[in-house]
Amino acid sequence: MLVGGRRSGLWYHPAPVRRFLIAIDFDGTITQHDTLHLIVDRFGDRSVWDRLTPDVIAGRVSVEEAMQAEFATVRATPDQVLELVRARAGVRAGFVEFIAWARARGHDVRVLSNGFRIVIDDTLTRLGLADLPFDSHDAEFSAVGTRLVWTARGERCALCNRPCKRFDLAAVRGDLPVAYVGDGVSDRCVCGAADVVFARAELADWLRDAGRPFVPFDSFGQVRAHLEQLTKVYPG
Ligand SMILES: [Mg+2]
Ligand SMILES: [Zn+2]
Repeated sequence: MLVGGRRSGLWYHPAPVRRFLIAIDFDGTITQHDTLHLIVDRFGDRSVWDRLTPDVIAGRVSVEEAMQAEFATVRATPDQVLELVRARAGVRAGFVEFIAWARARGHDVRVLSNGFRIVIDDTLTRLGLADLPFDSHDAEFSAVGTRLVWTARGERCALCNRPCKRFDLAAVRGDLPVAYVGDGVSDRCVCGAADVVFARAELADWLRDAGRPFVPFDSFGQVRAHLEQLTKVYPG
C-alpha cells in the first residue's frame, strides 16, 4: 500500500488545510507592551491625552488630532526610541514560531497596526521577520517634538467614522476567510469583518460585554492550537 505524497495517486492531497488570512495587531499583541504608551511615558507628556479625552469623546477633536498633540510632546531621536522599544516592549510568547507555522501551512499572514512603521520594522527585522508584510502609520521622531505621518486608509470608515483597519483588510483579504488577533480599541471595528477573532485585554473585555464570540489568548501557541483545529479539512 502506498502512503502519502505523490505516489499515492490523484485522489490523495497531503495535509489538506483551509487557508486563512491571519491579520495580527502589533502593539500589545505581538509586543507585550504598547510601544506608543512606552514612548510617551518616557519622552513625552501623557497628560495631554488625558486632557483631550473629553473632547475626543464629544467629537470635538479627532483621535488622530489628539494623538498628534500628544506626540508633539515626545522629544527623542529615532535611536532613543528604538533603544527604549528594544529594551522594554517585549515579544509575546510563541510569536516567531507561530509565523513559521502559519507560513508552512500556506496561510497568508499580515500585521495591521495603528502604530509606527519605524518601530514595527525594527522589531520584525530583529526577529528575523523583515519580510512579514504590515500596514501602519509612521512617526518622525526628533529632539524638538514628533510629527505623526498618517497612512492613507481610504475614506473614513462608514462604521466607526475613523481611518480604519477594515480598509487595509479589505485591500488584502481576497476571498480568504480571516482570523484576526488583537488587544485594543483600534481592533474593535475590524473584528466585525473577521471570521474568527482572538482577543486579549481591553478588546476581550469589550467583545465579552457586547456578547460577541471570540477566542481568548495569552500566547501565540494558543492561537495556533485553535487554528490547527479550525483549518483542518477532513477527507470526504
Ligand atoms: Mg494593540
Ligand atoms: Zn471602522
